[in-house]
Formats: sequence, C-alpha cells, structure tokens
Amino acid sequence: MNSSEENVECLIIGSGPAGFTAAIYAARADMKPVMYEGMQPGGQLTITTDVENYPGYPDGIMGPEMMDNFKKQAVRLGADIRFGMITEVDFSSRPFKCIADGMKTIHAKAVIIATGASAKWLGIPSEKRLNGSGVSACAVCDGFFYRGQDVAIVGAGDTACEEASYLAKLCNKVHMIVRRDTFRASKAMQHRVENTPNIEIHFNSETDEILGDNLVEGVRIKNVVDGSTKEIKLTGFFVAIGHTPNTAIFKNWLDMDEQGYLITKPDSTYTNIEGVFACGDAQDKIYRQAVTAAGSGCMAALDAERWLAANHHA
Ligand code: NDP
Repeated sequence: MNSSEENVECLIIGSGPAGFTAAIYAARADMKPVMYEGMQPGGQLTITTDVENYPGYPDGIMGPEMMDNFKKQAVRLGADIRFGMITEVDFSSRPFKCIADGMKTIHAKAVIIATGASAKWLGIPSEKRLNGSGVSACAVCDGFFYRGQDVAIVGAGDTACEEASYLAKLCNKVHMIVRRDTFRASKAMQHRVENTPNIEIHFNSETDEILGDNLVEGVRIKNVVDGSTKEIKLTGFFVAIGHTPNTAIFKNWLDMDEQGYLITKPDSTYTNIEGVFACGDAQDKIYRQAVTAAGSGCMAALDAERWLAANHHA
C-alpha cells in the first residue's frame, strides 16, 4: 500500500458537534478514529457568537471557542483530526473506499457521516457584511439577544413560522417578510403566526437591503407587485429560508429524502448500508441543535463500535 492509500478502522466525515462527539466516543473505545474536518472546520457553530443553550457552560460560550474545546478534547483522547475533505465515496464493498482531497484513498471499516447542513442565505451583500452583527440564520440560537426589541424574519415555511412564533415571545415586534402572497408552511403554523398580535406579515415583499454600518439598524423591503419600498427600524434580522444538508457525495449510495437529508433506521444511526452511520444535521431537519447533534454523534460512535465488534472487524 503506497502513501496515497491508508487503512482506517473508523472514518468520521465532518467536524461539528456530531463529528467531534463521535470522535471522542470512538477514541475512548479504541477505534482510532480519523476525522476529515471538511470545508468549514467546526461546522455551523463557528459562524455564531454566544452559545447560551448548550448545557455545562453557565455563562455561555462563543461558538468558535466551544468548537475549539470539542476539538481539543477529541485530540487529547487520541482522535486523528485532519484538515481536508472527503470528496468521493464508494460504499459498494467493505472496507469502504473514501477519497480524501481528490488524492488519497482511505479504506475504512466503518464510516460515520457528520457532514451537517448549511443554512441558505439570501445572497445580498449587506447580509454577509452584517452576519453575526444582527444577521442570523438561527432564531433559537440568537433570538434571546433581541429581547424586547424589533426584529424581522424572512421566509414562509414551517421553520420561518416556528421561529417567528419563538421570536414573538421574546421580542417587542416581529416583521415577517414573505416573498409571495401566501405561505408555504402548514395551515396550523400559518394560523399561529397570523393570530400572534406582535407579528406583522409583509406579503409580496423582498429584502432590498439590510441597513446599518456595523450593526443591523433596519431593513428596506420592496413590494414585488408595485415596486414600492419601505424602511423598517429593527435590530435583528433572521433568515429562515431553509437548509441544505451536505450530503451530495452520498447520493448514489445512501437513502435520503427529497431534500437530501440522510435517512437513518428508527432509534439508531444506521443508514441503508451496514457499517455506514449518519448523525447530526445531515440526518436531522427537525431539531438541528448543537446538543442534539452531539447526542446523535455519541449514538453513531456506539452503533459503530457495536457493529464492528459484532462483525469481527475490531
Ligand atoms: P422550506 O423549504 O419549507 O421553506 C422555505 C421558505 O423560504 C419558503 O417559504 C420559500 O418561499 C422561502 N424562500 C426560499 N428562498 C427565498 C428567498 N431567496 N427569499 C425569500 N424567501 C425565500 O424550508 P423550512 O426550513 O421552512 O422547512 C424545511 C422542512 O422541514 C419542511 O419540510 C418543513 O415542513 C419541515 N419542518 C417542519 C417543522 C415542524 O413540523 N414542526 C418545523 C420546521 C421545519 P416560497 O414559499 O415562495 O418558495
């Protein structure tokens, strides 16, 4: 075997809370896990600020620092963490073949997928410039910082409605910016939003620009029917237009739903291919929290350990 090939007992793909928790458990179980961190080492939490809802941090912690702690803990326990991407997989036979950075072939007895999901963004420059300074894609993570203030949320799906309702409990007023004249969300969610007095729905509206130099100070919305614009003063701007699971490379191998979320067997992290396990946001479109991702990362490592032992691969 030359240096562009390597045998690995347990390969972990992705480095958010799910991946690192899987690495911690796998390392302690002597599975000698090798992790490829992926395009965004540390995952989505590295683009948030304070994390106040992860148990164990009484004063909260910054997202990037928390992920750094996850990594240090995994490294201390012996996980081999590598900067790089798994760019291709072949799950047709065992050991599984995974190509790292288009060059190196890893032969893995077990694979844990923890590639996460990425929030969709509007793609306007002010959204990027003010990201983390009033612009957020997670109301549950960041809504608390806007208590008593006015905020906006873009989107008309179940997530946007759920997050608008959540924000309405904390904030003075929630402006919901909906691009069509109707919701995509289920009727129940829609009615909840419509019946919440401090949510104002702006139909047929697009975000023209988020206003503010260093912090969000407002938003300019444009009515797509008559072209008129309107400025609204607010301090928080939430985007809830969906997520994309980072599962494209598994398309020909693993069962996924129509949006690309990996399907796992009930009460487990088993995918349709024995020896390949999935955890975190790549297979969870409902909860999407750091703590739930970490929990499922633990499950994946335990499932992999038991599967390896039962299949005499360990
Ligand atoms: P969805 O894809 O269902 O909805 C996305 C929303 O964002 C749509 O209303 C869409 O508008 C809007 N949108 C997309 N791009 C833009 C843009 N560029 N500008 C403005 N608006 C935009 O995503 P969700 O995250 O809401 O839901 C994902 C899945 O998870 C769904 O199946 C949902 O039912 C499910 N879910 C279920 C929950 C529950 O049951 N409690 C809670 C949360 C999610 P348009 O309608 O015009 O296309």
